[in-house]
Amino acid sequence: MSQTTFNQAPTMKPVISVCHLNHYFGQGELRKQVLFDINFNIYPGEIVFMTGPSGSGKTTLLALVGGLRSAQSGSLTILGHQMCGASKRDVMQVRRQIGYIFQAHNLLTFLTAKQNVRMSLELHNQYLEQDMDGLAFDILKTVGLSSRIDYYADSLSGGQKQRVAIARALVSNPKLVLADEPTAALDSKSGRDVVELMQRLAKEQGCTILMVTHDNRILDIADRIIHMEDGRLVGNANLATTTSDPKTSNET
Ligand code: ADP
Ligand code: MG
Repeated sequence: MSQTTFNQAPTMKPVISVCHLNHYFGQGELRKQVLFDINFNIYPGEIVFMTGPSGSGKTTLLALVGGLRSAQSGSLTILGHQMCGASKRDVMQVRRQIGYIFQAHNLLTFLTAKQNVRMSLELHNQYLEQDMDGLAFDILKTVGLSSRIDYYADSLSGGQKQRVAIARALVSNPKLVLADEPTAALDSKSGRDVVELMQRLAKEQGCTILMVTHDNRILDIADRIIHMEDGRLVGNANLATTTSDPKTSNET
Protein backbone atom coordinates (compact mmCIF):
# COMPACT_ATOMS: atom_id res chain seq x y z
CA MET A 1 0.00 0.00 0.00
CA SER A 2 1.50 3.29 -1.00
CA GLN A 3 1.43 6.35 1.16
CA THR A 4 -0.85 9.15 0.18
CA THR A 5 1.01 12.33 -0.55
CA PHE A 6 -0.07 15.83 -1.37
CA ASN A 7 1.03 15.34 -4.95
CA GLN A 8 -1.14 12.35 -5.61
CA ALA A 9 -4.07 14.43 -4.70
CA PRO A 10 -6.68 15.39 -7.22
CA THR A 11 -6.17 17.95 -9.88
CA MET A 12 -8.95 19.91 -8.23
CA LYS A 13 -7.65 22.79 -6.14
CA PRO A 14 -8.17 22.35 -2.41
CA VAL A 15 -10.72 24.60 -0.72
CA ILE A 16 -8.56 24.53 2.40
CA SER A 17 -4.82 24.01 2.25
CA VAL A 18 -2.90 24.05 5.51
CA CYS A 19 0.87 23.71 5.46
CA HIS A 20 3.23 23.83 8.44
CA LEU A 21 0.76 25.87 10.42
CA ASN A 22 1.75 26.78 14.00
CA HIS A 23 -0.18 28.93 16.39
CA TYR A 24 0.68 30.60 19.68
CA PHE A 25 -1.33 32.34 22.36
CA GLY A 26 0.13 34.92 24.71
CA GLN A 27 3.34 36.93 24.65
CA GLY A 28 6.78 36.70 26.14
CA GLU A 29 7.05 34.31 29.09
CA LEU A 30 3.42 33.41 28.74
CA ARG A 31 3.65 32.52 25.08
CA LYS A 32 2.23 29.07 24.59
CA GLN A 33 2.15 27.04 21.41
CA VAL A 34 -1.26 25.46 20.80
CA LEU A 35 -0.95 24.25 17.19
CA PHE A 36 2.10 22.34 15.95
CA ASP A 37 2.97 21.86 12.29
CA ILE A 38 -0.52 21.20 11.01
CA ASN A 39 -0.79 19.93 7.43
CA PHE A 40 -3.91 18.92 5.53
CA ASN A 41 -5.95 19.66 2.42
CA ILE A 42 -9.70 19.59 1.99
CA TYR A 43 -11.16 19.36 -1.50
CA PRO A 44 -14.38 20.74 -2.97
CA GLY A 45 -17.49 18.90 -1.85
CA GLU A 46 -15.82 16.98 0.98
CA ILE A 47 -17.47 16.66 4.37
CA VAL A 48 -14.67 16.42 6.92
CA PHE A 49 -15.16 16.03 10.66
CA MET A 50 -12.52 17.05 13.17
CA THR A 51 -12.43 15.13 16.44
CA GLY A 52 -10.14 15.30 19.45
CA PRO A 53 -10.20 15.88 23.20
CA SER A 54 -11.10 19.17 24.76
CA GLY A 55 -8.19 21.60 24.64
CA SER A 56 -6.52 19.88 21.66
CA GLY A 57 -6.83 22.97 19.46
CA LYS A 58 -9.88 22.24 17.31
CA THR A 59 -11.63 25.56 17.83
CA THR A 60 -8.40 27.47 17.34
CA LEU A 61 -7.77 25.69 14.05
CA LEU A 62 -11.33 26.28 12.90
CA ALA A 63 -11.09 29.97 13.79
CA LEU A 64 -7.89 30.28 11.74
CA VAL A 65 -9.46 28.50 8.76
CA GLY A 66 -12.46 30.80 9.03
CA GLY A 67 -10.39 33.98 9.14
CA LEU A 68 -11.70 34.72 12.63
CA ARG A 69 -8.16 34.67 14.01
CA SER A 70 -5.03 35.81 12.21
CA ALA A 71 -2.74 33.06 11.05
CA GLN A 72 0.76 33.65 12.44
CA SER A 73 3.13 31.23 10.78
CA GLY A 74 3.10 28.61 8.07
CA SER A 75 0.75 28.69 5.14
CA LEU A 76 -3.03 28.67 5.18
CA THR A 77 -4.83 28.99 1.87
CA ILE A 78 -8.60 29.30 1.98
CA LEU A 79 -10.59 29.46 -1.26
CA GLY A 80 -7.45 30.47 -3.07
CA HIS A 81 -6.46 33.25 -0.65
CA GLN A 82 -3.33 33.10 1.49
CA MET A 83 -4.48 33.97 5.01
CA CYS A 84 -1.03 34.35 6.57
CA GLY A 85 -0.34 38.05 6.41
CA ALA A 86 -3.57 38.73 4.52
CA SER A 87 -5.00 42.26 4.49
CA LYS A 88 -8.23 42.95 6.37
CA ARG A 89 -9.94 43.41 3.07
CA ASP A 90 -8.83 40.00 1.82
CA VAL A 91 -9.90 38.37 5.06
CA MET A 92 -13.32 40.00 4.79
CA GLN A 93 -13.68 38.77 1.25
CA VAL A 94 -12.92 35.21 2.31
CA ARG A 95 -15.25 35.42 5.31
CA ARG A 96 -18.15 36.37 3.08
CA GLN A 97 -17.80 33.08 1.24
CA ILE A 98 -17.96 31.03 4.44
CA GLY A 99 -21.01 29.91 6.41
CA TYR A 100 -20.41 29.56 10.16
CA ILE A 101 -22.37 27.37 12.55
CA PHE A 102 -21.37 27.42 16.19
CA GLN A 103 -22.16 25.31 19.22
CA ALA A 104 -24.40 27.98 20.59
CA HIS A 105 -26.66 28.95 17.73
CA ASN A 106 -25.89 32.67 18.11
CA LEU A 107 -29.22 33.78 16.75
CA LEU A 108 -30.47 37.24 17.52
CA THR A 109 -33.27 36.49 19.93
CA PHE A 110 -35.16 39.73 19.22
CA LEU A 111 -35.49 38.81 15.55
CA THR A 112 -37.71 36.17 13.99
CA ALA A 113 -36.37 33.06 12.27
CA LYS A 114 -36.83 34.74 8.89
CA GLN A 115 -35.17 37.98 9.98
CA ASN A 116 -32.18 36.07 11.33
CA VAL A 117 -31.72 34.30 8.00
CA ARG A 118 -32.37 37.46 5.99
CA MET A 119 -29.66 39.30 7.87
CA SER A 120 -27.09 36.93 6.50
CA LEU A 121 -28.17 37.80 2.94
CA GLU A 122 -28.00 41.51 3.66
CA LEU A 123 -24.22 41.16 4.03
CA HIS A 124 -23.95 40.23 0.36
CA ASN A 125 -24.41 42.93 -2.24
CA GLN A 126 -25.62 40.49 -4.85
CA TYR A 127 -28.72 39.67 -2.80
CA LEU A 128 -29.81 43.20 -2.07
CA GLU A 129 -31.79 43.41 -5.31
CA GLN A 130 -33.31 39.98 -4.87
CA ASP A 131 -36.35 38.78 -2.96
CA MET A 132 -34.51 38.20 0.31
CA ASP A 133 -37.68 37.30 2.20
CA GLY A 134 -38.45 34.70 -0.44
CA LEU A 135 -34.95 33.20 -0.24
CA ALA A 136 -35.13 33.14 3.57
CA PHE A 137 -38.52 31.49 3.39
CA ASP A 138 -37.30 28.83 0.94
CA ILE A 139 -34.32 27.79 3.03
CA LEU A 140 -36.35 27.74 6.26
CA LYS A 141 -38.82 25.50 4.50
CA THR A 142 -35.96 23.24 3.44
CA VAL A 143 -34.83 22.87 7.05
CA GLY A 144 -38.38 21.98 8.05
CA LEU A 145 -39.34 25.27 9.68
CA SER A 146 -42.01 26.62 7.35
CA SER A 147 -44.44 26.80 10.24
CA ARG A 148 -41.99 28.79 12.39
CA ILE A 149 -40.87 31.48 9.92
CA ASP A 150 -42.22 34.37 11.96
CA TYR A 151 -41.44 32.98 15.41
CA TYR A 152 -38.92 34.85 17.50
CA ALA A 153 -35.71 32.87 17.94
CA ASP A 154 -36.31 32.86 21.68
CA SER A 155 -39.48 30.84 21.33
CA LEU A 156 -37.91 27.99 19.34
CA SER A 157 -36.56 24.72 20.74
CA GLY A 158 -32.83 23.96 20.73
CA GLY A 159 -33.11 21.82 17.60
CA GLN A 160 -35.20 24.44 15.82
CA LYS A 161 -32.72 27.19 16.68
CA GLN A 162 -29.88 25.12 15.32
CA ARG A 163 -31.90 24.59 12.12
CA VAL A 164 -32.30 28.34 11.79
CA ALA A 165 -28.53 28.65 12.30
CA ILE A 166 -27.99 26.14 9.50
CA ALA A 167 -30.43 27.98 7.25
CA ARG A 168 -28.63 31.23 8.03
CA ALA A 169 -25.24 29.71 7.23
CA LEU A 170 -26.37 28.13 3.97
CA VAL A 171 -28.81 30.67 2.53
CA SER A 172 -26.08 32.56 0.68
CA ASN A 173 -24.70 29.37 -0.95
CA PRO A 174 -21.30 29.56 0.74
CA LYS A 175 -18.48 27.56 -0.81
CA LEU A 176 -17.34 26.48 2.64
CA VAL A 177 -19.23 25.78 5.86
CA LEU A 178 -17.39 25.67 9.18
CA ALA A 179 -19.18 24.22 12.17
CA ASP A 180 -17.97 23.93 15.75
CA GLU A 181 -19.83 21.24 17.67
CA PRO A 182 -23.19 22.18 16.17
CA THR A 183 -24.94 19.27 17.89
CA ALA A 184 -23.48 19.77 21.36
CA ALA A 185 -26.65 21.25 22.81
CA LEU A 186 -29.01 18.81 21.10
CA ASP A 187 -30.38 15.41 21.99
CA SER A 188 -29.07 12.60 19.80
CA LYS A 189 -32.05 12.49 17.45
CA SER A 190 -32.08 16.24 16.73
CA GLY A 191 -28.28 16.20 16.55
CA ARG A 192 -28.29 13.60 13.84
CA ASP A 193 -31.16 15.32 12.04
CA VAL A 194 -29.37 18.66 11.81
CA VAL A 195 -26.12 17.11 10.61
CA GLU A 196 -27.93 15.02 8.01
CA LEU A 197 -29.61 18.19 6.92
CA MET A 198 -26.25 19.95 6.60
CA GLN A 199 -24.99 16.99 4.59
CA ARG A 200 -27.97 17.07 2.23
CA LEU A 201 -27.80 20.81 1.67
CA ALA A 202 -24.04 20.69 1.19
CA LYS A 203 -24.36 17.95 -1.43
CA GLU A 204 -27.11 19.89 -3.19
CA GLN A 205 -25.15 23.13 -3.19
CA GLY A 206 -21.76 21.48 -3.77
CA CYS A 207 -20.21 23.12 -0.74
CA THR A 208 -17.46 21.82 1.50
CA ILE A 209 -17.93 21.24 5.23
CA LEU A 210 -15.37 21.18 8.02
CA MET A 211 -17.06 20.35 11.29
CA VAL A 212 -15.73 19.84 14.80
CA THR A 213 -17.64 17.19 16.69
CA HIS A 214 -17.39 15.02 19.77
CA ASP A 215 -20.51 13.17 18.77
CA ASN A 216 -19.69 9.53 17.96
CA ARG A 217 -23.20 8.91 16.78
CA ILE A 218 -22.81 11.01 13.67
CA LEU A 219 -19.28 10.14 12.55
CA ASP A 220 -20.58 7.96 9.72
CA ILE A 221 -21.89 11.06 7.96
CA ALA A 222 -18.35 12.32 7.28
CA ASP A 223 -16.46 11.54 4.09
CA ARG A 224 -13.28 11.76 6.15
CA ILE A 225 -12.29 12.32 9.77
CA ILE A 226 -9.23 14.17 11.00
CA HIS A 227 -8.15 13.90 14.60
CA MET A 228 -6.37 16.42 16.83
CA GLU A 229 -4.34 15.69 19.94
CA ASP A 230 -2.32 18.19 21.95
CA GLY A 231 -2.25 20.64 19.08
CA ARG A 232 -1.21 18.09 16.48
CA LEU A 233 -3.04 16.25 13.75
CA VAL A 234 -2.42 12.61 14.56
CA GLY A 235 -2.46 9.42 12.56
CA ASN A 236 -2.64 9.51 8.81
CA ALA A 237 -5.85 11.41 9.06
CA ASN A 238 -4.53 14.46 7.29
CA LEU A 239 -4.88 12.85 3.92
CA ALA A 240 -6.56 9.62 4.78
CA THR A 241 -8.65 8.20 2.02
CA THR A 242 -11.36 6.63 4.05
CA THR A 243 -13.86 6.98 1.27
CA SER A 244 -14.00 5.53 -2.17
CA ASP A 245 -14.01 9.02 -3.53
CA PRO A 246 -12.51 8.75 -7.03
CA LYS A 247 -10.63 12.02 -6.46
CA THR A 248 -8.44 10.43 -3.82
CA SER A 249 -8.54 6.71 -4.45
CA ASN A 250 -5.79 6.54 -6.98
CA GLU A 251 -3.42 4.68 -4.68
CA THR A 252 -3.52 0.96 -4.17
P1 ADP B 1 -10.61 22.65 21.65
O1 ADP B 1 -11.55 23.41 20.78
O2 ADP B 1 -10.03 21.44 21.01
O3 ADP B 1 -11.21 22.34 22.97
P2 ADP B 1 -9.12 25.14 21.81
O4 ADP B 1 -8.69 25.47 20.43
O5 ADP B 1 -10.28 25.88 22.35
O6 ADP B 1 -9.33 23.57 21.95
O7 ADP B 1 -7.90 25.40 22.78
C1 ADP B 1 -6.60 24.89 22.53
C2 ADP B 1 -5.64 25.39 23.59
O8 ADP B 1 -5.50 26.79 23.46
C3 ADP B 1 -6.11 25.15 25.01
O9 ADP B 1 -4.99 24.87 25.81
C4 ADP B 1 -6.72 26.48 25.42
O10 ADP B 1 -6.60 26.66 26.79
C5 ADP B 1 -5.86 27.46 24.66
N1 ADP B 1 -6.59 28.67 24.27
C6 ADP B 1 -7.73 28.72 23.53
N2 ADP B 1 -8.13 29.98 23.33
C7 ADP B 1 -7.22 30.77 23.97
C8 ADP B 1 -7.07 32.18 24.14
N3 ADP B 1 -7.94 33.04 23.60
N4 ADP B 1 -6.01 32.60 24.87
C9 ADP B 1 -5.12 31.74 25.40
N5 ADP B 1 -5.20 30.42 25.27
C10 ADP B 1 -6.23 29.91 24.58
MG1 MG C 1 -13.59 23.84 21.01
